[in-house]
Amino acid sequence: MIQRVLREVEVAGWQAAIMPFSSRAAARRGIEDRHARGEFDKGFYEERIARWAGESDLEIPNPRSLFAVAVPDRPIRVRFKLQETTLATIVPPTYLHGERSDRAVEERIRKVLAPAGFAVARARGPTKAMATLSELAQYGRNNLAYVADLGSYHRPVVLVSDLPCEEAPRREPKALLRCSTCKACLAACPTQAIGEDRFLLHAERCLTFWNEKPPDVPFPAWVRPEWHNALVGCLLCQEVCPENRPFIESIVEGPSFDEEATRAFLAGVAKKDLPVEVQQTLEDWDLVDFLDVLPRNLGALVTKATSVRAKNAHKKREGRK
Ligand code: SF4
Ligand code: SF4
Repeated sequence: MIQRVLREVEVAGWQAAIMPFSSRAAARRGIEDRHARGEFDKGFYEERIARWAGESDLEIPNPRSLFAVAVPDRPIRVRFKLQETTLATIVPPTYLHGERSDRAVEERIRKVLAPAGFAVARARGPTKAMATLSELAQYGRNNLAYVADLGSYHRPVVLVSDLPCEEAPRREPKALLRCSTCKACLAACPTQAIGEDRFLLHAERCLTFWNEKPPDVPFPAWVRPEWHNALVGCLLCQEVCPENRPFIESIVEGPSFDEEATRAFLAGVAKKDLPVEVQQTLEDWDLVDFLDVLPRNLGALVTKATSVRAKNAHKKREGRK
């Protein structure tokens, strides 16, 4: 039955591995141990991690196994017209169409397991930490989950099932072998979230932590304007990673918004007040949930682009002298 599930996943172009259900508790334990040792920033822990401890785990009765699945994903380019120029921005993998992708994984695996009398549901808990306790994924120095032939350009999803699993649990997550000799992401990270001092990310310094926050939270003063590089999240450490080299050029061309829409986004206009065709484009590209952070995040990218243009114009003028 396990082989049938794995074959079905492979047919869809995804990758998967099974692990014992106990791996969820092990993933949580690993995180809690780090917390007890004071390795997490307090704000980051409270905002992003503490909720896992309080989650109820009753997705299915008698859970026996977890399936970690990786669905290939690519950065998406979103263009905005402003002041007669076009600003090309990037949304890194995992942000868009996540719910659709997770549902597709769940449905495909259920199609195999349900006729044989087994239940399956999406597992609650720390997805990345669980996936890296399976044979599917390993941590990179940037603390993203890496999968063979997909690098970090995938969306991980974990399912819980009552299918028995004989696999021995992996006690500790593995790190990519390449990270022992490579520091490309460390050098590329502008915020020093990736440190020399330890493998665990200083997540409270990661741009992602800040530009995913609610729209009324401004960027801290130490975040320099030139560091912003994505509409949400940050792609810098993934772009330079040799593990991602094979697909670094494969960016999906996403939507383009005209000047009127761009100005409305920057002004924080609500979805219902946007032109119908703009609403539809936001729906089609799963961008609706990011509408509220656009005034801050897109605003930061516009400021950066304006300043770069001004500097280039200045250099050109100086060059003519
Ligand atoms: S996502 Fe950006 S800020 Fe975060 S670790 Fe990677 S390069 Fe640094
Ligand atoms: S850039 Fe190098 S050190 Fe960073 S995750 Fe990739 S292989 Fe590891």
